[in-house]
Amino acid sequence: RQIFLNGSYFPEHQASVPVMDRGLLFGDAIYEVTAMLDGRMIDNDLHLARLQRSLGEINIPMPMPIEDIIEMQIELVRRNAMTDGTIYMQVSRGAEERNFLPSEGLKPGFVAFTQPKKLDRNPAQQVGAKMALLPDPRWSRRDIKTVMLLGQVNAKQSAKLDGFDDVWMFEDGCVTEGASSTAFVVTGDGEIVTRPNSTAILPGCTRQAVIAIARDHGMPVHERAIALEEIPHVAEAFLTSASSLVQPVIQIGASVIGSGQPGPVTRQLQKLYLEAARSGARI
Ligand code: PLP
Repeated sequence: RQIFLNGSYFPEHQASVPVMDRGLLFGDAIYEVTAMLDGRMIDNDLHLARLQRSLGEINIPMPMPIEDIIEMQIELVRRNAMTDGTIYMQVSRGAEERNFLPSEGLKPGFVAFTQPKKLDRNPAQQVGAKMALLPDPRWSRRDIKTVMLLGQVNAKQSAKLDGFDDVWMFEDGCVTEGASSTAFVVTGDGEIVTRPNSTAILPGCTRQAVIAIARDHGMPVHERAIALEEIPHVAEAFLTSASSLVQPVIQIGASVIGSGQPGPVTRQLQKLYLEAARSGARI
């Protein structure tokens, strides 16, 4: 695999970052993931805008202009001959002698790599996923896409141990989001519900795209928190993320959702999202 590292491309075994990198020592780094389907980058403009926003929120400069990042992504994909999978990018504040307070003017560290996978062929796309429901253990700035992911790693591990596929998290009696996804439910009235963006969740790029598609097709979307008490009564549930696209959810905690099969609104959104993704130009 070819890795992009600070302006150059290296075979993976030759790509190395300094031990004093602040991403390694403090989790002082931001990441992004863009999905690729059939030679097309999906919602990449949204991911690059969020990268810029996350970096701005913690005062790390952009490592290079957006147009150059896009060129790099295309070159990386070409070098790795990837048509389907994900492009991972990570920007750290930089490397220097370990000290909580960073120096001004540090040069950010920038790495990117590809992970090939047929995202739309994942069996969970068809059968749906069973989500554990666990308290949200994270800090108060979840709108920043940092590599401080220990809360999510722990939650996913305990979900797996309990026999679930993945996990949604809650706080103050309401669902916040998935450990690596945005949570949606569909009410008995056919209303699509997801939590409004705030510092309590990551503003999902797939969330934004799916909401726009739903509204374009006259499907009602209500941005409000999902209370834990309503979960046993919802008609459908699904999650969104760059790598999971629109994925049905068939169980949340002890509650089997609907008939225990992916619901019709979910299926429709899955189809519309894939159609939109496949209508873009190949790179
Ligand atoms: N929420 C969290 C905590 C995530 O980690 C992710 C993606 O990894 C998402 C939501 C979904 O965001 P996106 O649709 O931009 O991939």
